Amino acid sequence: MGKDTLKIVFTGHVDHGKSTLIGRLLIETKSLPEEKISEIRKISNQLGKDAELAFVTDYLKEEREQNITIDTTQIFFKTRRRDYVIIDAPGHVEFIKNMMTGTSQADAAVLLVDASEGVLEQTKRHAYLISMLGLERIVVAVNKMDLVNYSENIFNQVINELAGFLKNVGLTPVFTIPVSAKEGVNITERSQKVKWYRGPRFLEALGSLKRDKNGTRNKPLRFPIQDVYTVKDEKIAVGRIESGYMFKNQRIITMPSGSKNIIGSIKVFGKEIKRAGVFESIGVVCEHTGDLKRGVVIVGEQDRPELKDEIKASVFWMTNEPLYLRKELVIRCATQEIECGIESIERKIDSSTLEVIENNIDMLLKYEVGEVYIRTRSPIVVEKFSFLKELGGFVLKHKGKVAGVGIVR
Ligand code: GDP
Repeated sequence: MGKDTLKIVFTGHVDHGKSTLIGRLLIETKSLPEEKISEIRKISNQLGKDAELAFVTDYLKEEREQNITIDTTQIFFKTRRRDYVIIDAPGHVEFIKNMMTGTSQADAAVLLVDASEGVLEQTKRHAYLISMLGLERIVVAVNKMDLVNYSENIFNQVINELAGFLKNVGLTPVFTIPVSAKEGVNITERSQKVKWYRGPRFLEALGSLKRDKNGTRNKPLRFPIQDVYTVKDEKIAVGRIESGYMFKNQRIITMPSGSKNIIGSIKVFGKEIKRAGVFESIGVVCEHTGDLKRGVVIVGEQDRPELKDEIKASVFWMTNEPLYLRKELVIRCATQEIECGIESIERKIDSSTLEVIENNIDMLLKYEVGEVYIRTRSPIVVEKFSFLKELGGFVLKHKGKVAGVGIVR
């Protein structure tokens, strides 16, 4: 307890070394069950160090085959500093859905590239998926450096090749690290073999990624009203503070109207409190009541959001009936529900093959993810998903039913 957990999704072209790197991390952080470790020791004493990794990889595979739920693609390991969950399932429909609905939101992504092969098709697809999912913290590991004699030149060639593509999809790596998962170079231990490299080792890099946990506390106030009740002639707006905090006498604005108002009192279960923080469910009484209704978002006077009627988003379509341009939909974001339609689809990917389709797209089929522009009939309060997922994630409804999910980009 008290330690935070970082969820990381591992991506990269098949055979570039994901399982080996994960196995290496588990061994070097001693994160396998006790009996597995002694078993591994026994085997590697007999067969040498290479057997050690193969064993871990097989063990993971076995674990996965025994459990068919999505959770088995999650691998846990810990360091003194924090706990980690590795999600090893890009390209799984469930994975994309879980990410987009916030069920299993990763905090960061690792993109693995084989130094001897460079950037391949799946490297690009995965990078694009990372960007579509709004993940901004990405660590690039250039693996199999042993196969290129730990050459600085080749490392630079690979990252130059990658940089162009990443820039295209709007990603900037936080770290780019030369490693050899097989030989255990630069994972947790430094090595003379990469003397020329001055950055952090792989695990160190993961350890320094911030998990925006308390971030919502310092962010601007966003209080979407869920309902308004009248109790003894007093109108009480109830809801949950999605970011920031509220206090008595605070100067606020109700969106979308933009009217100024003041918090008269804050109530929790009939008791008055002076101040309430993020994720607290509360009732508030305001000086002016005319504007208060479900779907209105209360914000601080100093940090009012820009209202949008056009939103750039990624949408994951989940319904048999395709999503056509300008189809009549309703977007629900927090408690706001507003009619909308898709103006354009710029690119889309098939979530099972991750194939990118760029031309002549006028609809999304079931399980496709599209990079789209949404036009709402009236203004809406949204935030970038990477900034505030509570107001950056949304669902799209068609004829009253949830038909897709999305994130604001
Ligand atoms: P995945 O498909 O991305 O999970 O790749 P694997 O981890 O299964 O690795 C594919 C192959 O590459 C295996 O034969 C590994 O032993 C090998 N491999 C992985 N990492 C390294 C490395 O750092 N150096 C070398 N030489 N081979 C590696």
